[in-house]
Amino acid sequence: MLDADHRSLWRPYTSTDERRDRDPLVIVGGRGARLFDSEGRSYIDGNGSWWCNNLGHNHPRIVESLVGQAKALLHCSMSDATHEAAALLGEELLRIAPKGLERVFYSDNGSTAVETALKIAIQFWAQNGQPGRRRFVSLSGAYHGDTLGCVAVSDVPAFHRLLGNPSSENLFVPMPGPDDDGLRAEAFLEGVLRERGSEIAALIVEPMVQGASGMRFWSAPLLRRMRELTIQYDVLLIADEVFVGYGRTGPMWACDHAGIAPDLLCLAKGFSAGAMPFAATLATGRIYDGFAGDRARALKHGHTFYGNPLGAALAREVLAIYREESVLALAQERSAQLREGFCALPQLQGARTLGMVAAAEVGPADYLGDRGWRVYEAARRRGALVRPLGNTVYLVPPLNIAEEDLAALLAILAESLEDAF
Ligand SMILES: *Cc1c(COP(=O)(O)O)cnc(C)c1O
Repeated sequence: MLDADHRSLWRPYTSTDERRDRDPLVIVGGRGARLFDSEGRSYIDGNGSWWCNNLGHNHPRIVESLVGQAKALLHCSMSDATHEAAALLGEELLRIAPKGLERVFYSDNGSTAVETALKIAIQFWAQNGQPGRRRFVSLSGAYHGDTLGCVAVSDVPAFHRLLGNPSSENLFVPMPGPDDDGLRAEAFLEGVLRERGSEIAALIVEPMVQGASGMRFWSAPLLRRMRELTIQYDVLLIADEVFVGYGRTGPMWACDHAGIAPDLLCLAKGFSAGAMPFAATLATGRIYDGFAGDRARALKHGHTFYGNPLGAALAREVLAIYREESVLALAQERSAQLREGFCALPQLQGARTLGMVAAAEVGPADYLGDRGWRVYEAARRRGALVRPLGNTVYLVPPLNIAEEDLAALLAILAESLEDAF
């Protein structure tokens, strides 16, 4: 199997050298925070399988919901039909969504959720009397997904240097560093909106934590200010909560830290608890009303697997589990344990936590740095997966990780840091 893999696959975000030097794990099962390999070893999933596994692997209720839905209906297009899972999920989601969000548009993954939001924003202005509003403003260091529209509002040098920006129209706000009060970013944004507001469709941000850019934390007051300014200049605010939503940073929505609601909200990752590709873009009633009318005014967007029954049934079950297993309250307890254990590790620089995200540097912040990988190798030998972002080491475990598993994960990280440095 490894030979077949080696001969045939092209792996994501992995160099051919890395693939040559290290076989991937052969995973045969998962339960709770742990993955099991073909040799019977177990690994605590410290990275939540690329930040999406909020409820642990193979949660029995999730498996049941998929099996039940699979027996009834695997897929039908929603262009001329509806089905129970998608319809009820829509309503359940809006009940808990930030205020003002009144419509749900489904898609497959985080990138499509963001693409949908960007296209909604452009078409909304184009058919409501302001066709000049076509640019987007985002933040330096932003990551909004891997398709080209997403890349055009992203700015992670290690990913995007060779691609260049596919749209020269977009603008980037210089993001504040950790000890900065955000006033410079605010002044820059205000200047951009004042001078070119009539050209700008939307501001897109990852609220509170810029994930792929190195788990960079930023402040609720700045987010609140961004909401005020976008309202003042009538620019749409897109919250990309693909990573930070669903309780990852504490409250259900990262926007809750600032008490704000966006005009468009992008969900994926935790939305399906990382069990399947499934995503949604939520919009306000005002935006939806901007599409009222005949065929020419319909949103020209929709992926083949819009509202897929398996994804929708699973996402409903995820919401039920959040409610019935008090996932956010559990995560709050674990986040205290995470903060205490993580911030006490002496080899870490700039240790920071928010909810169930913990991050720190083990060398100069650099995605291409290899110091984080030394920790990864040591942890993997000891039974934990802590894939780094270069020299940034982080933990993003399932929100409902058992207390003893989190303690074991922190102990392995501590030993691995000792091994590595
Ligand atoms: C992961 C991520 C995306 C892209 O999601 P995919 O499902 O990988 O396409 C978009 N935005 C943010 C903030 C993300 O973390």
